[in-house]
Amino acid sequence: MNAVLIVLGVIAALIVITAIRAAFFVPGKRADSQPLGDERVDVERFCKNLSDAIKIKTISNYDSELVDWNEFKRFHSFLEERYPLVHKTLTKTEIAQASLIYKWEGSDPSLDAIAMLSHQDVVPVAEGTENDWEHGAFEGFNDGEFIWGRGAMDMKNHLVALMESVEQLIADGYKPVRTVYLCFGHNEEVVASPDNAAKKIAAYLKEQGVHLEAVLDEGGAILPVNVKGVLNCNLAGVGVAEKGSINYEVSVNAKGGHSSQPPKHTALGYLADVIKDIENHQFKARMPKFVYELFTEIGRRCSYPARLVTCNIWLLKPLILKIMTKIPPAASLIRTCTAVTMASGSPQFNVLPQKASITVNFRTMPGVGISDVEKHIRDCVRNKNIDVKFLVGKEASKVSPTDSKAFNTIKELCLKSDEKNLVAPFLVMGGTDSYNYENICENIYRFSPFAVDTKLLLCTHATNERLPIASAEGALKFFKRYIKSMTAD
Ligand SMILES: [Zn+2]
Repeated sequence: MNAVLIVLGVIAALIVITAIRAAFFVPGKRADSQPLGDERVDVERFCKNLSDAIKIKTISNYDSELVDWNEFKRFHSFLEERYPLVHKTLTKTEIAQASLIYKWEGSDPSLDAIAMLSHQDVVPVAEGTENDWEHGAFEGFNDGEFIWGRGAMDMKNHLVALMESVEQLIADGYKPVRTVYLCFGHNEEVVASPDNAAKKIAAYLKEQGVHLEAVLDEGGAILPVNVKGVLNCNLAGVGVAEKGSINYEVSVNAKGGHSSQPPKHTALGYLADVIKDIENHQFKARMPKFVYELFTEIGRRCSYPARLVTCNIWLLKPLILKIMTKIPPAASLIRTCTAVTMASGSPQFNVLPQKASITVNFRTMPGVGISDVEKHIRDCVRNKNIDVKFLVGKEASKVSPTDSKAFNTIKELCLKSDEKNLVAPFLVMGGTDSYNYENICENIYRFSPFAVDTKLLLCTHATNERLPIASAEGALKFFKRYIKSMTAD
């Protein structure tokens, strides 16, 4: 009886503590409550320049022979013509065929510079889908609400906004103390390009002895989140890391021969078990610090009953992880994902395979290396008679801190510009140019300050890519303020 009373007492105490915690689990007071000063921005000029930038077909290709380099030349002339103050004040270096580095020299060269990244290239329009577009992919049509076209979201919007902001800052008479680099690569969209331009830009900067205080690149955006009665906010996701992508080939060898006298299992039959072992033994899910921070930030904004759960993530972690692993998009945040993507057996229908292979794509979490993946495969496959071969891949990035000057600046600017904004770190699933800057920078953030809804984000790389004009003013102001906050001291 006593034991029952104790248990009941503990449960009652937990409920009371939880209820009290939930009541006080709200966004903290902002230390610096000074409002943001206004910034002069020219949305109309931004729209005109973005429209015209989209008209220039800067399409990258894995095979550099197939790239129309004239389009990149046209793009460079376009920038020169539209941003005279930038070209008068900053020094421009052309590098790696069509990439650009602009240097805005600060008055104190002893301070680490900052870099603002954007890629000039866009993906092509998938063949046969040209006519599905409401307005031509390379027309840059402005209907008063959206600017339509390839690159409107990924990421000529970002590049043009950066140029606009610097042009405007120069016109305002602003002079940075810290140096600012604008780094515009030309082949970000070509995954695993043999001549990765961002890598060359970063190597060039390193050669010049540059160490960066912060890098800002694409990745997150400002997304409205509305769960009725629970949460109504704009989530500004700042990518603090990106996942890796590692490919392995796993093969089973067998005798081969004619299919008229087959053994009980062919190499493919044995391989089926290998596939099952790999799929049934996923990498362990864990909650990295930044995912915990993401949940906490969101949790603080939830309405009261929901906060009973969100304020107790520490307590419910095992349960949360378990639920998340059942939902693929959520699972991708907390573990290395495994996908068996390709398979091959014999080259002919009446020939037994002498070798059967699969290719497995692993999207790795930060900290999981190429050799960890191989060990995982060997550990989980019961058939020890397999060949495991690393094909190609890129490890996950490092994780940038959430207490640096740059992260705090992004956070403060977002929070102050709109009460509904909440800022949280997250993990970027794809790759960005910023990955290549790890050698010269510890504080790398992937964030594009445009407020767009998820539906529009899905148009990126797809049909009807378009940017809502309403998002331009906030982005232009953000860039001006970010540059000023980061370079004024
Ligand atoms: Zn991009």
